[in-house]
Amino acid sequence: MDRRHFFQNTALVTTGALAGCALPGVAQHKPRTPFDVAATYLPIVGSDEMFPVRRIYCIGRNYRAHAIEMGSNPDREPPFFFQKPTDAIQYVPAGTVADHPYPPLTKNYHYEAELVACLGKGGKNIPAEKALDLVYGYTLGLDMTRRDLQRAMGDQKKPWEIGKSFDRSAPIGAVHRVTQTGHFSQGAIWLKVNGELKQNANLNLMIWNVAEQISKLSEANELFPGDIIYCGTPDKVGPVVQGDVIEMHIDGLPNLSVKVV
Ligand code: MN
Repeated sequence: MDRRHFFQNTALVTTGALAGCALPGVAQHKPRTPFDVAATYLPIVGSDEMFPVRRIYCIGRNYRAHAIEMGSNPDREPPFFFQKPTDAIQYVPAGTVADHPYPPLTKNYHYEAELVACLGKGGKNIPAEKALDLVYGYTLGLDMTRRDLQRAMGDQKKPWEIGKSFDRSAPIGAVHRVTQTGHFSQGAIWLKVNGELKQNANLNLMIWNVAEQISKLSEANELFPGDIIYCGTPDKVGPVVQGDVIEMHIDGLPNLSVKVV
């Protein structure tokens, strides 16, 4: 069976509720529908359960050196977030090199190596001191970016969604439960292209740590189990072309590798 199909098959239950809760109009139990729509799941390491992905949030410019290279003020401005569609996920099993399609419309396709926090609880206006209680686990992922489109749209003061939120723009590994890994406040994060080191930093260089990101995000949106947060990329982002192999690493997690095809 095609791996994408397997990990994005039909949901039997969706989040929210018709029966008394958070988001009106979101069904708790699957109603009769004229066709099925895929839902997205990630494997949980050491478990036969799957992690259901509800939303993909991504923080922007969360490492000082990356903020500078993107031409923005590196001072500690309020964090900002964007989203990718859930079905942008491309699950990449550890120990494999998944084919990753070069997307249409771009001539400047960039990697961004990122820690990903996966929530098992939700809430709003979560204080930073309690925010880590929401984390179910962690993984690592690539926030793939059509940089030319992102920049062009930004220059025109239009939404840069087309540069960030497109098919397969979120390669990601399996979820590791925090009970097994602990939280990630420091540790090496690096990315290689064809074996050559491109990004090389430490998680402790994040401007907003994981707890602060969750806290800030929960002021803008109520968070729910299944939400995941791409925690930002270090500096030295750069382009890849067809044939390139990307390998990324975070201390304590298995490496993630894709080949651009
Ligand atoms: Mn990013």
